[in-house]
Amino acid sequence: MKFGGTSVADVHSIGKVTGIIEHYRNAGSEIAVVISAQRGVTDQLIGMSNEIVESTDTTPIEPFIDSLRARHLKVLNEVAPQYSEEATRIIEDRLKNLRGILHALFHLRELTPRSKDYIISFGERLNAPVVAAAMMQKKIPVTVLDGCEAGIVTTENHGDAIALPESDFHIRSRVVPLLANSVPVIMGFMGCTRKGQITTLGRSGSDYSAAVIGSGIDADEIWIWTDVDGIMTTDPRLVPEARVLPVVSYLEVMELSFFGAKVMHPRSIEPAMRRGIPVRVKNTFNPSHPGTCIIESGQCDTRVVKALTYIDKVGGININGAQMVGRTGVAKAIFSLLADHDINIMMISQASSEANISLIIEEEQLSIASDALGVLVKRGFVREVTQNRDVCAVAVVGAGMAGAAGTGGRIFTAMGRSGINIIMISQGSSEANVSFVVRKEDGPKAIQALHDEFQLSSEPEEERC
Ligand code: ADP
Ligand code: ASP
Ligand code: MG
Repeated sequence: MKFGGTSVADVHSIGKVTGIIEHYRNAGSEIAVVISAQRGVTDQLIGMSNEIVESTDTTPIEPFIDSLRARHLKVLNEVAPQYSEEATRIIEDRLKNLRGILHALFHLRELTPRSKDYIISFGERLNAPVVAAAMMQKKIPVTVLDGCEAGIVTTENHGDAIALPESDFHIRSRVVPLLANSVPVIMGFMGCTRKGQITTLGRSGSDYSAAVIGSGIDADEIWIWTDVDGIMTTDPRLVPEARVLPVVSYLEVMELSFFGAKVMHPRSIEPAMRRGIPVRVKNTFNPSHPGTCIIESGQCDTRVVKALTYIDKVGGININGAQMVGRTGVAKAIFSLLADHDINIMMISQASSEANISLIIEEEQLSIASDALGVLVKRGFVREVTQNRDVCAVAVVGAGMAGAAGTGGRIFTAMGRSGINIIMISQGSSEANVSFVVRKEDGPKAIQALHDEFQLSSEPEEERC
């Protein structure tokens, strides 16, 4: 069971969390728990690190440490009055460590990916003793482990590390023996390299931690507890009438999360899928709701379109030039240059005229990408490389779209009716996702129009799952 930032943010929510664990333990389940940082703490750690390297003195550090102390100890004293002494000592030790690192950062004036990972793992490090003490207060025996101690061994790409296959073995040998007599409380979001350097798994990475741990212990199910009733037809903050989906497939969730649906980390499905472990998404604040079950085949009604998402922190790169037509090696050169600069391509499109290739990448990498591709202009391979910040990518997801004629027509007619101009279109061969690009300001309008077009807020006529 993984509890996200909102589920462990304050006294009320931690009370819900311990209640849930107690309930399922009493019902006979063995449970391993993965926890996130308290909501907002990771953002604060990132903000503070950036501020310190730019700062002319160390004045921001003390108030920051004080605010973290006040926040965590206040919750601790309320949720675990009898167990707060030991946890306070641990938290003070960790704050002392963090304070030292932030001072060192000020003197070095350099935030390397490796030091950043260590710093941002403190959100989970400070919160684990609080949640563990709250569980002890409820007489639940606990064993606290950081991600590395739990056996998550990762690649070396700091900030976005991937768990290596050997993690399964380490997790099995370290976590499974604890399950019979206690609840392992594992700090999410972090692992370590083979050399023992702390890594983080990307923002919202605790979902991924939970999937890696669940797969390592060969869990019967992986449960992601969050602040909504399950995976919905779209982000409820965008479309208030969005509906909870009872069942979705691994593939559909992957498509949704890759395109920005915040409800799950994009990589968190893969470890579960590999072992066929069902993933359940449930609401900490409404635990009796069945939530969403994610399994191999999530098709339980005749609808072709299941859910929608959009991502606005993207940018477009256009590579143009008549000299590209019929010339081999242009695409290879583009992709190699981008790969050399560690730039991930989210969408690709090339018309049959071959005079233009359009790519969608993360917005913050636009300048690096255009500089890197500038080499092709100098070499005369292409005429120009332009960038466009005013775009967002919309994804329409549903495994039932494969082979179903007419869905594309409905999508683009709905866009036309709403006066939304389409800048680029792409559909993968899985056919479970049609994605297209529109202007940033049109993103929310596009989602609302598609939600209406496919009547996603109404219950399907027949739901067989
Ligand atoms: P946690 O702290 O539990 O990890 P997140 O804030 O990362 O929670 O993710 C949950 C949020 O994801 C929800 O509050 C919701 O606003 C947002 N969200 C975006 N897309 C969806 C979707 N399709 N279904 C459900 N929630 C979504
Ligand atoms: N605390 C981390 C973050 O905010 C990981 C997580 O919450 O899943 O990104
Ligand atoms: Mg999350």
